[in-house]
Amino acid sequence: MKKSQAVLLPLFFLIYFHPQAAYSQAASKPQMNCLIDGVSPGERMLDVGCHLTGLPAGKVALRFKDRYAGVDGLSDRIYSFRASDAAGNSLLPEIRDAGFYLLNISAGQMPIRLSYRIHLEKALDPSQYALCSSLGTEAGVLLISDLLPQICGTDGDRCTSPQLGLRITPPNDWKTVTVERMTGDEFVIPETDNAVFVIGKVREKVAATGATNLRVAIVGRWNFDDEEVFRLAGAVAREQASLMGSLEHHDYLLTLAPFPIPMTGLRSSGLAIGRSATLMLNINDDPRQSFAHFRRHLPHEMFHFYLPNSFQIRENFDWFWEGFTRYIAMLTLLRLHQIDQQEFFDSIGADYESWFFNSVKTEISLLDASLGKFSSPAQNDLVYRKGALIAALYDLELRWQSKGAINLPIVIRRIYDRYGNRKDILGNTELLGELGRAGKMDRFISDFISGVRDVPIMEMLKTYGLTLEWGPASRGRARIRKAEKISGRQRAFLQAEYGI
Ligand SMILES: [Zn+2]
Repeated sequence: MKKSQAVLLPLFFLIYFHPQAAYSQAASKPQMNCLIDGVSPGERMLDVGCHLTGLPAGKVALRFKDRYAGVDGLSDRIYSFRASDAAGNSLLPEIRDAGFYLLNISAGQMPIRLSYRIHLEKALDPSQYALCSSLGTEAGVLLISDLLPQICGTDGDRCTSPQLGLRITPPNDWKTVTVERMTGDEFVIPETDNAVFVIGKVREKVAATGATNLRVAIVGRWNFDDEEVFRLAGAVAREQASLMGSLEHHDYLLTLAPFPIPMTGLRSSGLAIGRSATLMLNINDDPRQSFAHFRRHLPHEMFHFYLPNSFQIRENFDWFWEGFTRYIAMLTLLRLHQIDQQEFFDSIGADYESWFFNSVKTEISLLDASLGKFSSPAQNDLVYRKGALIAALYDLELRWQSKGAINLPIVIRRIYDRYGNRKDILGNTELLGELGRAGKMDRFISDFISGVRDVPIMEMLKTYGLTLEWGPASRGRARIRKAEKISGRQRAFLQAEYGI
């Protein structure tokens, strides 16, 4: 360690290592006031200018997010980064890495001015467009966490967000929609990581009030009516709030927007962060298929408002919040009579097919697949598809064991009651404990969630009076149906639980 570093370190740790405690003792927490303007939908770029005050004197590291949810190189989109002091003198940042700038400043130089341009034209995998800020000719979806820098330790970690005030100047005749609150002429943003702003020619409506105040924003032209979207989103919001027994009275935002660049074929990409969900859709020329695709995706993103967004989480358990959410989305649509029982069971059959053909299914458990979700498509598939299959089979088994007294939604509601709204930290141990306690489920969990046992679906379905057809008669698809010969208990069970 060099001598100069020995002097710097205690100050460094005081300021950065326990930011909350340190800032409460310090004169003020760093404050950043920014303006996003110069939004050019055609060129897909925008300008950012910020004033920074309350910084500690000395070396200050500013860092832009570079990776998120498997998307790399986000900070490559930052161009012409400039910093200057209050007198307008240019501060030459030391560039440590892509999107990582080190400034050497003294207290008298504040406020520091930053300016830079962001190019959003980088091509991504279609599934990734909703995962980061985007801008197209009809809409922009601005995720503040990848547009503004954080203040970090000089080695680039232990990053925190300054207090943020933000103004946005959208192009003429575009509007700005967000759940963030405005004070004076700027948005005051308590959690930068969760802040989302949608800009565009937005048609909007409050689609649900009460337990969930849901605003729906639609951008772009579709081959189904806006009213259908508002109605469905409102119904899903009310159904999921009642499923969770939610007493929250927060504002939520759902946005339907086109992809920022032309796409082919029916596809969607979605992200729910904090209380904002964005669903990008590309339709085909069949209105029924297009709306059906949107309808299947919508309740998935909306359930993320609860799971995991209302929890304080210790570790990655995507197998639950992606896989089980995928199943809950289909259950939501069944309960709303948006799909019939056969479509519901067909979705479980399709997830079984996906599991059956998965190349790592007997090597990687759901718990382990969650950790490596972005390392291979096979692991990603396990998280979503096996996760949903196991959720469906868990739900069936629990309903059967308890004679309909308990089901998966009730268990998730218990978890939400206990851990939701960030009451207690939730991790795999707590989650598996809650799933196990709901019935005689320990073996099920060790076989199919923490283990890699083959899923003996025929044997399992037989218990409940169901069967799986997979051959020419079912047109090559794995289809779950009511078995021909069933007992009185099975008949009553299927009637009571699924109405078949
Ligand atoms: Zn998801």
